[in-house]
Formats: sequence, C-alpha cells, structure tokens
Amino acid sequence: METLPNLIGGQWSTSSASEKSPVMNPSRGDQIAEVPMSSAADVDAAVQAAQKAFPDWRETPPNERAQVMYRLKALLEDEFDELAKGISREHGKTLIEARGDLRRGLEMVEYACGAPTLLMGESLENIARGIDCHTDRVPLGVVAGICPFNFPALVPMWMWPLALACGNCFILKPSEKVPMTMQRVAELLKKAGLPDGVFSIVHGGREAVDALLEHPGIEAISFVGSTPVAEAIYKKGCLHGKRVQSAGGAKNFLVIMPDADPEPTAAALRDSAFGCAGERCMAGSVAVAVGEAGNRILPGLVDIIKGMKVGPTDGVDQPDMGAVITGAHRDRVNELISLGESKGGKVIADGRNAKVADAPDGFYVGPTVIDEVDYGNDIATTEIFGPVLSVMRAKTLDEAIAAANKQSFGNGACIFTTSGKAAREFRHRVSAGMVGVNVGVPAPLAYFPFTGWNQSFYGDLHMQGREGVQFYTKQKTTTTRWFSFGEGDIWVKD
Ligand code: NAD
Repeated sequence: METLPNLIGGQWSTSSASEKSPVMNPSRGDQIAEVPMSSAADVDAAVQAAQKAFPDWRETPPNERAQVMYRLKALLEDEFDELAKGISREHGKTLIEARGDLRRGLEMVEYACGAPTLLMGESLENIARGIDCHTDRVPLGVVAGICPFNFPALVPMWMWPLALACGNCFILKPSEKVPMTMQRVAELLKKAGLPDGVFSIVHGGREAVDALLEHPGIEAISFVGSTPVAEAIYKKGCLHGKRVQSAGGAKNFLVIMPDADPEPTAAALRDSAFGCAGERCMAGSVAVAVGEAGNRILPGLVDIIKGMKVGPTDGVDQPDMGAVITGAHRDRVNELISLGESKGGKVIADGRNAKVADAPDGFYVGPTVIDEVDYGNDIATTEIFGPVLSVMRAKTLDEAIAAANKQSFGNGACIFTTSGKAAREFRHRVSAGMVGVNVGVPAPLAYFPFTGWNQSFYGDLHMQGREGVQFYTKQKTTTTRWFSFGEGDIWVKD
C-alpha cells in the first residue's frame, strides 16, 4: 500500500508519524493508498523550509511569479483528463463533475496569472503641498491552507494559486480522504519552475492542523470544512495572532414560486440537490414550494430521479451520480433520512439501501426527496451533505424567505420564478451570501469572492477574487516629501 510522502523544502519526505489514515476509492469501497497523520515536527520542518524560501520568492517580480502560473496552466491542461480521473477515483464523483472541479480550480490559476495587475497599489499626488502618498501590497510570509474532502482540486486551488502569486510561501494540509490530486499537482508546480520550499504539503489530521494554528512562523490560515471545525479554527487561529478566513458548512434553501418554469426548474433542482451526490457546500438542501409550486414541480422531479443511474465512476460507462465519500458517511446520511421520516417527513423518493450490482462494496445512497418537512424536523436545519432534498411548503414568498432565514447557515439561497419583482424581493431580503435566480448552484467564479455568511463563514476576507488578494497581502502606505531644492540642485531649476 502506497504511503503518501509529505513535500517539504521541495523534497518528498517520509513523515515521522506512525499513525496512518486510509485513502479509499468510494466507488468500490477499496483502499487505494494511505496518508501519514503528520506530527508537529513535520509541520515545523515545512515551516522552516518555507521561511528559508520566502525572502527570494518575495523579491521575485510579480510578472515572473505569474509566469510560473502560466506554465502550470499549460501543464494542467496537458494532464487534464488524467487528473480528472484521479479526482473521480479518490472522491467518487462522476468524470464530468471531476472535470468541473478541476476546471474551476484551473480558473484560479488563470486569475493568479494577473498578479502584476492584482497587486497594484494606489497613489495620490499632493496629499498636502509637495507630499505624495502611495500604497504597496506586500506578501504576508508563510501561510497555510486546510481543506475538506469534497473538492480535491477546487478548494485547495481557491487558496494557493493566489497566495503564491502574491509572493507568499504556502503549506497545504489536504483532506486526508482525498490527498492524491494535490500530490500530482505539486509535481506539476515543480515542473513549472516553482522554487523549492515555496509550496509544501503536510498530510494529516487534527495534530497537524493544531501545529499549523499554533506555529509562530505562520502568518495566515485559510480553512474550508464543516462549521464546528471552521469556528474552532477561526477562534484558535485568531488567538495565535493569525489572519484567518474560515469557510464552514451550509444548508441552502431553494424557493420555488408557483410561476416557475416547471421543466428547467426540476432539472435545476436535480443538479443542485444531487450533483456531486449532494456533497457540495452550495448544494440545494431544502426546497420551499410556494402555493401550488410543489404540485407543479415535484412529480416531474421524482420522474427525473427515477431515471437517474447511480454507480461507480472509475469505469468507462459513467453514471448520473457516484458514491458518497465513506461507508460511515453513507450510514450517517441513511440515518438522517430515517430521522427525517420519523419526525413526520414523507419520503417520496428513497435512496436508502441503494444497491449497485457491479460495485457492491461502494458507498452508495440514491437520490432522496422528503416532502412535508417543517422546522419541527431536525433535517430542516442539519447539514446532511448527501443526495437528499427536503421539501417545505409555504403560502407566500414572505413565508418562504422567513423559512430560509430561520436557519443558522448562510452560504447559498436560490429562487425559481418568472417574476422579476419576486426575484428582487428575495435577493434583497434573503440572509445568504450567494444568491441564485433560476440558478441552482450559484457558486461564483474565480474573479468574484465566494461570499458565505452567518455560520458558513468566519472572518472578513473571503476566498477568490480581489478579497483573496487582500487576504494574502498586507498594505504598506508610504508618504513622501522632498525638501525644497537646495542651492546645489542646478539640474532641477532653471
Ligand atoms: P471537516 O470539517 O471534517 O474537515 C475539514 C478539514 O479539517 C480536513 O482537512 C480535516 O482533516 C480537518 N479537521 C477535521 N476535524 C478537525 C478537528 N477537530 N481539528 C482540526 N482539524 C480538523 O470537513 P469535510 O467533511 O472534509 O468536508 C465537508 C464540509 O466542508 C461540509 O460541511 C461542507 O459544507 C464544507 N465545505 C464548505 C465550503 C464553503 O465554501 N463554505 C466548501 C466546501 C466544503
């Protein structure tokens, strides 16, 4: 069984830790590798190597740093299909979804190619007579990123392409469940000409994360994962004097108005709730049907679901939906469906005990719809992170907005309608940072920030876009005055 090495100072090195964690192929339920649960000593070695690399990388002109990103983009395009297959294998998502995961990540590399422009400061002449002022954006130093399992390419690439382009050194702690994609990308970064020590990987779990949070040599932490961990990381990182951006879980509400166009709305609901087997922080999780909307849309959605093929994603024939990440997660999703049913929900499409003949040991849950869910039912507010759509009923848009705003998360919220007035009202009043109007997964692209709110985000500056640049840089403001020309300045004055 392959044990993945850490990447420290540009060298692949064996962790000092004896504890390992399995990496699975969820489609088959087979173990494909293992990762070390790295120790504080491993983290310290990575920080020291990064600190050594930082002074030269910081002085490397932004356009030269951008050239590394241009070369990396070309290398990623060359290996695109192989990388997508790897994502699919370690995560279980379909090849189309894996390609989307990588494409969105690659767009962050493209965005980072604009480093010279993104890093430009501001200036103003004559803030007082003969005095000028300008700002520079300078890198922070060594920064670290801690990632979840659900986007093996995209989420790490929300972080390091911009961090590196801004002149920082970066230490990545990938999800222990999907560590292989970034392992390969790290090799491509080296091939693209990134100097040793500028990008490091330390595999592991809590011990490695704690060591990153506590290490005085690390200036900033980017985290993406579940809300309890996101909140704890934010607090601990701040306590240790670090800049922290920490994205948490979600419960995204999809409001369907009676005037919504039934066919495209049903298709959008399917993609939102069941794409990536529901393991998306922007997945639609609760549909709130206003008035007659439920009766108009739900039968079509259930019909679509009946035609969906669930199965292994590591073969030539691709299913519509793959496995969930682990056996334990499959069991938890099944338990939550049963809990929802026991609290009065009506299961109108049941994915529990999904059987896949050619992959009997894979971790499958079929697409599930639970109607008649209300706030008395735990599944209305719990993040399930599986292919489960709960349905609530509301009499009015007001009621639907109140339902969407009652829960504690605030990542995404969507409305399906043909009324501009209803859409505007919803966009204005819903308490979520990313809104979709007839769009089921309103995840912004690289050049916009990924603006989660409430318990979906802790911090001030989000990932992606200009906020990402702001997060990975600090500003230096210089005020300049030159005293009146001395007698010797014959070259300046007539
Ligand atoms: P997770 O919180 O279990 O793990 C995330 C990372 O934290 C992993 O690297 C893990 O090793 C580490 N970790 C786990 N427990 C820890 C602890 N007690 N102390 C320190 N580190 C710990 O999340 P996951 O199951 O890998 O990912 C799914 C979650 O991520 C979902 O809740 C999903 O909504 C969320 N997510 C959010 C966004 C967003 O933008 N808001 C994006 C993607 C995923």
